[in-house]
Amino acid sequence: MKTVFLARRLFTPVEEIQDALVVVEDGKVSELGSRSRSPLPSHAKVVDFGESVLTPGFFDIHMHGGAGVDAMRASASEFSRLGKFLIQHGVTAYFPTTVAAPLDATYKALERLADAIEAAESDGAANGHSVEARPLGIHLEGPFLSHKRRGVHPPEYLVEPTLKIFNELWQAARGHARILTIAPEISGAIEVIAEAARRGVCVSIGHSDADMPVARKAVNSGARHATHTFNAMRPLDHRQPGIIGEVLSDDGITADVIADGIHVSPEVVKVFLQAKGSERAVLITDAISATGMPDGKYQLGPIEVDVKDGKCTANNSLAGSVLTMDRAVRNVTQFSTWSLRDAVRAATLNPASAVRMTDLYGAFKPGARADFAVLSPEGNVLKTIVGGQGF
Ligand SMILES: [Zn+2]
Repeated sequence: MKTVFLARRLFTPVEEIQDALVVVEDGKVSELGSRSRSPLPSHAKVVDFGESVLTPGFFDIHMHGGAGVDAMRASASEFSRLGKFLIQHGVTAYFPTTVAAPLDATYKALERLADAIEAAESDGAANGHSVEARPLGIHLEGPFLSHKRRGVHPPEYLVEPTLKIFNELWQAARGHARILTIAPEISGAIEVIAEAARRGVCVSIGHSDADMPVARKAVNSGARHATHTFNAMRPLDHRQPGIIGEVLSDDGITADVIADGIHVSPEVVKVFLQAKGSERAVLITDAISATGMPDGKYQLGPIEVDVKDGKCTANNSLAGSVLTMDRAVRNVTQFSTWSLRDAVRAATLNPASAVRMTDLYGAFKPGARADFAVLSPEGNVLKTIVGGQGF
């Protein structure tokens, strides 16, 4: 069964197509073009989104939960609730992200996350009957973090990196660990970075007090991304640039930022975007279970977080966010001179490319999964399509 989606504009996101036409078959994009050049296929259902903009579904590679659901503790039905919440914000794919916790609890959480990922895979294979965002891989934020730059991660659960513990995490996650955030300066880190990279993990430097040479050594050993740039990092000094000097100046790596205007000032978000450019800047939310919920007390793994006026704190530290990806995209267009298309790219193609999943995700092209967001010209989410369903 073919479905044809029409809209005024489409961001691939590398290019913009006017009067766009997308043909979807079996949950995947089969054709893409402009109505002026491609005729409407016969025997197809036509869905016309009028003046709106089609973009690939947003891909959040760093999120801890939402709608009251904490990713480290969620049951199968709670993952479904989280997935339904996320599509209201244009997100079709995400990486549930751990925080430092007792190792045993972490292993159990990783097993549950692997279950959720495999369940989503088989649901997708059955042509995506449930219209919800899908967990595609796990982001290990910890336990290999710097004590000095741990932020809200409890000090008692931070661990020195060893191949043995990395391997136990890897096994518990059944190979679904796709990102490892690690502080490169701690003892044993470089060896784990090299091994994780060898297994195809996107090694991301962060929660780190590294100076610039150590950060560069991590990159030379296989690290290729940076986690919430500026937050939980040794601050930039113009004569001692530290890890941030490496992250901003190295065109060989991608980096992400929390563009809520709270974690990083709007002006510094603008500087970040200019430094990393539209090809290497990635937006994340770092959202916690409180996202989409009223102010109050919420769990982030083993940590109790206070949420007030959109600010999440625990022990006087920022503890994740209640940012949604659609807002992050709109914020970027307000904090900088970036177009909506470039902002969308930082929430779609760039994260998918950082984790090397662009075959199926992050861009409109024949063969990609038909996961997309329907936006108003101002960037508000009107509808989200998952596997060609949900219109
Ligand atoms: Zn986080």
